Formats: sequence, C-alpha cells, structure tokens
Amino acid sequence: MEKTLVILKPSCLQRGLVGEVTKRFERKGLRLAGMKMCQLTDEQMSEHYAHLADKPFFQQLKDSMMITPVVVCCYEGVGAVEVVRQMTGATCGRKAAPGTIRGDFSMSFQENIIHTSDSLENAAVELKRFFKDGEIFDYTLPTQQFLYAADEV
Ligand code: UDP
Ligand code: MG
Repeated sequence: MEKTLVILKPSCLQRGLVGEVTKRFERKGLRLAGMKMCQLTDEQMSEHYAHLADKPFFQQLKDSMMITPVVVCCYEGVGAVEVVRQMTGATCGRKAAPGTIRGDFSMSFQENIIHTSDSLENAAVELKRFFKDGEIFDYTLPTQQFLYAADEV
C-alpha cells in the first residue's frame, strides 16, 4: 500500500487544528503509520522546498515552517498519495475548494495548514527526509476488511 507524508505546519498547531485535521484522515480510513513532533531546520527546508528556491518568498516560506515545531505524519492506504492530496486542496487557501482541509481552514497561500506529498516518488523521498528507520510502523487495522474489498488491497 502507498505511504505519504503529511506535515502539520506551524499554522495548524497555532490555530489549534491538529485534532480537526488528523480526525479527517482517521475518518477517511487512512492508517497512521508514523507521527512525531519535530523542529525543522533551514537545511531540511532548503531541500524540501528546493523547487521554490528562486522565488522571492523562499526564505520567508522556510522561516514560516520553523517558527514553531511541526508534526510530521505518515499515512498509508490504497492510493494514499492522491487521496491525501485531494483532501488537502489547492495550494492557496483562498482558492482551495470547500470541503478540503485548506478550503475549510485557510485564507492564505503560505499559511495553508498542511504539507502533503504530491507524487509517490516524492512521498518516498520526503518520508526518508523526516523519519528515521524504526519510526514508521507496520501494523494491521482490525477494520481492514471493512475498509477495502479483498481485491482492492
Ligand atoms: N507557497 C507560497 N506562495 C506561493 C506558492 C507556494 O507561500 O505562491 C508556499 C505554500 O505554503 C505551499 C508551499 O510554498 O504549501 C509549497 O509550494 P507548492 O507549490 O509545493 O504547493 P503545495 O504542494 O504545498 O500545494
Ligand atoms: Mg508541493
């Protein structure tokens, strides 16, 4: 099954939305495979947002991710990368569709509550960036047979 990275950004913690956001992934049926609080570093953020290095807001964006600790999460499910991305919504909270996390909880481009991996390939790279060996756990949900048909998994 696919694994994907979710970062509960400082805006999520400061706004008191950790429960609201994780509740959505939980109710959806994604399996929580890893979760920890950490203080991100400039080096990690330069790597993580390398695709935005030429943008004028690059340093401001990195700083916004380091202003408080964050919570990094690994969720697993069939097609989890796309499912989580759809639940996240468009990058700018003002444009994100109602019903999505950003659409429901954010008014901002930068302060948009969560980061989520945008492809299976990037998910693997990003999970390695934020989780050490032994911090992602394999266990079976007792509800598994009611989450998926036998031929879906
Ligand atoms: N971002 C921003 N202004 C922009 C584009 C991006 O502040 O014009 C921030 C925003 O916090 C976003 C992050 O940079 O979540 C990474 O941008 P990306 O294009 O990868 O968007 P995402 O994958 O998070 O939707
Ligand atoms: Mg992105």
